[in-house]
Amino acid sequence: MKVETFSGGPFQENGYLARCPETGAAIVIDPGAWAPRLAERIQEEEMEIEAIVLTHAHLDHVEGIPAIRKVTPAPIYLHPRDQPLYARAEDQAKAFSIPFRGPLPPPDRALAHAQLFRFGNVELRVREAPGHAPGHVILVAQEEGLAFVGDVVFKGSIGRTDLPGGDFQQLLQSIREEVLTLPDETRLLTGHGPETTVGEERTGNPFLIPQFRGGFA
Ligand SMILES: [Zn+2]
Ligand SMILES: [Zn+2]
Repeated sequence: MKVETFSGGPFQENGYLARCPETGAAIVIDPGAWAPRLAERIQEEEMEIEAIVLTHAHLDHVEGIPAIRKVTPAPIYLHPRDQPLYARAEDQAKAFSIPFRGPLPPPDRALAHAQLFRFGNVELRVREAPGHAPGHVILVAQEEGLAFVGDVVFKGSIGRTDLPGGDFQQLLQSIREEVLTLPDETRLLTGHGPETTVGEERTGNPFLIPQFRGGFA
């Protein structure tokens, strides 16, 4: 899988363009503030986008959907437990005092735990990982040793849990059961900031060590 990162805006959110190198099939993950640049890229290369996949529905991860939808009719995938958050995108913009880039089209398909998501020859396994948001999912490409983890865990940090629907203990449980159970060398592509690995976070993440003394998983 070939992955390109598009980040920017006040939240420095990472949007991803993931492509199967053999077939050219591609998906967009979490289109944020820099989605217009991502949309240009799709047009330049005349890419066929098969899906717009959302790890969760916080505004910084969905605000670029209108820009992507201008260049592709690809269906939007979201976990149903984040649908209420998605429906309140405009209120989220107000709460963060950022401009709202227009109404979002309704999601087309529901993501569910253990669902296998395919594009080209790439397989992504959906894992529910609530705590930062109630319908947060991560997408695991087991064969490639890579996972898109959204705002569950970051390099040296974890997702905030003070927003509506957040739950600190639930987030730690999600990290323990869905992230730290992956092989140590698994690359974690996060919703903000640089990528990391499971091993690096298991041993060095200050939010995980005092809770669980490191390699508990
Ligand atoms: Zn978030
Ligand atoms: Zn975020």
